[in-house]
Amino acid sequence: MLAANAAREFDLLVEGATVVTMDAQDTTIDDCVIGVTNGSITLLEKRRPDASYLANEVIDARGMVALPGFVNTHTHCFQSLLKGLGADLPLIGWLNSSVQPFGVRVTHRQQELAALLTCMEALKSGCTTLCEFFYTNQDPELADVCVEAMRRTGIRSVLMRTFQDLGQEYNTPDCYIEPVETALAEVERLGRTYDDGDMLSVWAGPDVTWATSKRGYEKTLEYCLAAGVRYTMHLKETPEDDDMCRRYYGTGIVELLDKIGFLTSKFLAVHCVGLDEHEVELFAERGVSVSHNPATNLYLGSGIAPIPALLAAGANVCLGTDGAASNNATDMLDAMRLAALMQKGALRDATAMSARDVVRMATVGGAKALGREGELGTIEVGKRADLVLFDPNHLKSTPMHDPLATVVYSSSLENIDTTIVNGTVAYRKGRFACGVEEAELLEWIRDELRA
Ligand SMILES: [Zn+2]
Repeated sequence: MLAANAAREFDLLVEGATVVTMDAQDTTIDDCVIGVTNGSITLLEKRRPDASYLANEVIDARGMVALPGFVNTHTHCFQSLLKGLGADLPLIGWLNSSVQPFGVRVTHRQQELAALLTCMEALKSGCTTLCEFFYTNQDPELADVCVEAMRRTGIRSVLMRTFQDLGQEYNTPDCYIEPVETALAEVERLGRTYDDGDMLSVWAGPDVTWATSKRGYEKTLEYCLAAGVRYTMHLKETPEDDDMCRRYYGTGIVELLDKIGFLTSKFLAVHCVGLDEHEVELFAERGVSVSHNPATNLYLGSGIAPIPALLAAGANVCLGTDGAASNNATDMLDAMRLAALMQKGALRDATAMSARDVVRMATVGGAKALGREGELGTIEVGKRADLVLFDPNHLKSTPMHDPLATVVYSSSLENIDTTIVNGTVAYRKGRFACGVEEAELLEWIRDELRA
């Protein structure tokens, strides 16, 4: 047994921050000490003058706010090279003029650079877990290149290897289209090769409703339930989702999915702009998680998802940036601000969405959508040390009267001082632990796009 005054030892200590834990009691601890051992939080207490701590690495976080790392539940890495292309067009026009022509030709080098750019920008916005919704399947090795680049940055990641098994009439490129069996064999291969159940997970899923057959949904569900794999898809982003389903199967897409048992707690539905009241209740009842991507819904003019209604019904909602071709960034601070403002304006009600609501979506909601609420999403002893240190000492964010209001409404990338993933510093004061310098990456990208 330790003597009362014995020094406790840690791998990493974060000292002096105001810690917004986002736990069930909404606990905030001023002048706090966070101790980390083997990637997990093993100490969380107000600093005591009489206590002594030993650690390999100590971060002085006085004056800063510590939050759980943000979980970005939806992006497409390759689109980071397309920022601004196809601007000011609706979804299908934008897809056909920017994303698809590039997507079918993306090279290994471009995929690698795009993944580095996405993950480094994400880390710099306080994101510790990034979900890559992967669908450029013409070359299986592109997925491997993407995974390797994501892993290199030290971010926790999920590779969602999705598929299209039809869609020619909506201009889905032929080279993407494959039998569902081929897609699921790839999910199995990628899972076997990379999924460690912690730093990297592999999921499955259809891409969009207009490129998926009913058999595609059924086979995906059968595989995922048998293999314990989670799944995702774009859903009700625009009216095309229902149109195509009605023409092929005579029902709306949500009704079709419910009939085949697709709506489960393992399903992450992306966008959900067009959910009606009945569907909102159904999602809550079935335990479906919704990935809300406010920037892309505004940029493509897709509309405003019924997020307050989903939350009121008890559904789990998380946040995503979507690909940077429709955002046009991978910035979780920006996603939180837009998520709060768009509902206040749309509903003409300033209480419709609070700063705490959107931070909860970006942390606790994201962890739950990944089925990892026991390990991620809050700052509590026993959880993984995925942390962000927010420094309010900048013009835009001074003064700080309310930490969560400052984080959501008065922040930018310059406020993110440090991002810690699994107890390891991945980003700190402009430097990335992966060894790639920001200026170096930008030069590589400029060279590649000039070539
Ligand atoms: Zn998307």
